[in-house]
Amino acid sequence: MIRLSLALAATLLASTYAGSQEARNPPSLIVLVTVDQLRGDYIDRFRPQLTGGLARFARGAWFTNAHHDHAITETAPGHATLLSGRFPRSTGIADNLAGVDAPNAPLLGASGPGASPERFQGTTLVDWLRARDPATRVLSVSMKDRGAILPVGRSRSEVYWYSTDGRFTTSRYYRDALPDWVNRFNERRLPQSFAGKAWTPLLADSAYKELDAESVERAGIDYVFPHVLPADTGAATNQLRVTPWMDEVTFAFALAGLRELSLGDGSRTDVLAVSVSATDIIGHSFGPDSKEIHDQILRLDRSLGAFMDSVYRIRDSTRVVFALTSDHGVGRIPEIAARTQRPPPYRVDIVAPARAFHAKLLSLGLDTSAIEIGVRTVRIARSARGNRDAVIDAALTAYAAELRRIPGVARVDRLRDLIDRDTLTDPIARRWAHQFAGTSTIELVTTLTPYSIYGQIVATHGSPYDYDSHVPVIFYGPPFRPGRYTEFVRTVDLAPTLAAVAGVTPGETPDGVALKQAIR
Ligand SMILES: [Zn+2]
Repeated sequence: MIRLSLALAATLLASTYAGSQEARNPPSLIVLVTVDQLRGDYIDRFRPQLTGGLARFARGAWFTNAHHDHAITETAPGHATLLSGRFPRSTGIADNLAGVDAPNAPLLGASGPGASPERFQGTTLVDWLRARDPATRVLSVSMKDRGAILPVGRSRSEVYWYSTDGRFTTSRYYRDALPDWVNRFNERRLPQSFAGKAWTPLLADSAYKELDAESVERAGIDYVFPHVLPADTGAATNQLRVTPWMDEVTFAFALAGLRELSLGDGSRTDVLAVSVSATDIIGHSFGPDSKEIHDQILRLDRSLGAFMDSVYRIRDSTRVVFALTSDHGVGRIPEIAARTQRPPPYRVDIVAPARAFHAKLLSLGLDTSAIEIGVRTVRIARSARGNRDAVIDAALTAYAAELRRIPGVARVDRLRDLIDRDTLTDPIARRWAHQFAGTSTIELVTTLTPYSIYGQIVATHGSPYDYDSHVPVIFYGPPFRPGRYTEFVRTVDLAPTLAAVAGVTPGETPDGVALKQAIR
């Protein structure tokens, strides 16, 4: 039994009281920082060398066993879970192809595909805050359209992303013209200022254990430091995305917007969502074991730290809440994983059997528009089946058996079978069941063996395995009790937790729960 002195006991009581007071006072600003492809193990792996924003988050309320608990761990479905608190089966954003592409919503003042949240279903934290106070201000920013659009759902907020010609833009879904502050930022030509610059490691070579000269990185092209941007500004603004400077530019734009839109300056709870993408582009090019990803995380730590310092200079730190997470992890480059992983991973190609299966379905009288054969899924419109259920089922069974014989394919399931499976003992089944509703027209779902991937991209994500699903979920600010929380939680718990701190109620039943153990 520990005896407390009266003075100490009084101090503890006072601090508990202050803590609960803060919890009743909603924050004036919620800042969601999403680092695209930030694996759940990176912060610990590089921790001794972190001094900035990631080091600061590591002192927050850190859920170290947090996962995207769905099967297709891609950017669009991952971002869509974060402020909705719902799995892809209910946001309707199942994969990148079902993401934000929208020809009817062209970009403003920039080139590139149009984009909108028209396929996103339901509401997000932004809508819940606006239901309480319609004056709630929201800015969402990313290098990627889907990284900017999907966290804030269908809301017509201030939503901007980077076009490869070096300008921040939005689409016709949100506005008819870019606001002055965005034009002024673009006129500063910050992305163009990096033309001709060389990306070199931040620290001395002895600080990096990774082998720089792995020729499987970046498909054997420009895979050793230094990485020099072209002197031509047009080419440089595109290649900027594969350098740590892309995140610096994104943070600079977010800060400009925070000031211009006066986020967090009143009694409202405003939202700033920033999704930084360089980690993802560098991870796809060089893989998670590379010297480049190591250096990217160190530089992200520094630029994130400067960003947080700036937010605290502009706004009262006692009224700002930060959350850090990611949209997915990443697998090792298959050729590197093959040195140790058993069974060895494969690059899987299903194009030929998929074509044959498509032809088979057409021969059974199905229309092309009723069939959708992807690498991971087969969808057949129910209305097109007529009275052919038995022959279609037989064809699906034969195709599944053929796929199972391909090296690198772990399992092929009927979705309807997975929905009824014991999802505690079969986490793969659970993640597929969170991906698609039981009422969906998805027939088959394919899962590869660990570290196997589709196609020739150097390294990637998208599987239901933990290396792709595990991400940090960290809260930082006065309402939260710092510490390492090791229990299993999901990214769908993030929105209900922020809603609890802001004192608003989700507009529909979320799949996640508020992580009350971390709230004072
Ligand atoms: Zn991503």
